[in-house]
Amino acid sequence: MSERKIFSETLHDGVAISFQADEILHEEKTGHHRLDLIRNSIFGKVLLLDGAVQVTSADEFMYHEMLAHVPLMAHANPADVLIIGGGDCGLAEEVLKHSRVKSLTQVEIDASVLDFSRRHFKDFNAPVFDDPRFQVEIADGAAFAAQSEKRFDIILVDSTDPAGPGAALFTAEFYTNLRRILKDDGITATQNGVPFLQEREFVAAIGALASVFPVTSCYLVSVPTYFGGHMTLGWASDSEKALNVSEDTLRERAAGIETRYYTPAHHRAAFALPRFIEDLLAKARKGAETG
Ligand code: SAM
Repeated sequence: MSERKIFSETLHDGVAISFQADEILHEEKTGHHRLDLIRNSIFGKVLLLDGAVQVTSADEFMYHEMLAHVPLMAHANPADVLIIGGGDCGLAEEVLKHSRVKSLTQVEIDASVLDFSRRHFKDFNAPVFDDPRFQVEIADGAAFAAQSEKRFDIILVDSTDPAGPGAALFTAEFYTNLRRILKDDGITATQNGVPFLQEREFVAAIGALASVFPVTSCYLVSVPTYFGGHMTLGWASDSEKALNVSEDTLRERAAGIETRYYTPAHHRAAFALPRFIEDLLAKARKGAETG
């Protein structure tokens, strides 16, 4: 039997999380990332890019359902959706559960992550590739946002953390371009990490969002792989309307959509923030005001 290897992800100065690889399924250096796929007894298949966990087959539904369904259910007519990043296609699977979605464009920088995930994460992403509404473009999401002529009702930023190719997806310049390609009543939701461990990154990214959008907030999701307490997903829109949709309306829109994490009641509860995150949000907004 081959020796078991430990994969450690350094999360922040002084903290690392380790996964035991019962099996190393794949190791590769793509044009953009170092890619590892391992099998772990608790998390199932674990995909790491540059040593950072991106997705696991056991808990992907938690993150993907909340990043997709909260903005989609909050929107009266989410016909055209854009995903930036999201190479494993777990988010696309959730978006395409909505019959109200007429087109889904995904812009991913690394073709290898996409091809690879198509082969190795069929359990959750297989339906995506047979769906005629789904279109992929291999490009830098920041460059796409700067050039796109098409406008969207919902934009979801499913990025790596703000380092390497993902760094461009956390800037005010990028958010300015997202606002330009959002239709009226459009909503943007973003991956904003774990504020207990990534306080500086959280304040900087939400501050950049708040410097561009009139309405900025965040909501919570708990994902076991993203160690360190609450994970935050950022929210940006031009009005507060979609933040105040009633539970009854959410229930009507959610009818027939199968979920394991998302519920209309939890949708509304996810915006109730612990005090320390409220304070960080206020700090980010204030920083945006004072520049
Ligand atoms: N849930 C994940 C997390 O936070 O750990 C993110 C998962 S998803 C696999 C992240 C994707 O963003 C990767 O496939 C990566 O290639 C893509 N990505 C990073 N920078 C990008 C950019 N500038 N434009 C488009 N895609 C990008």
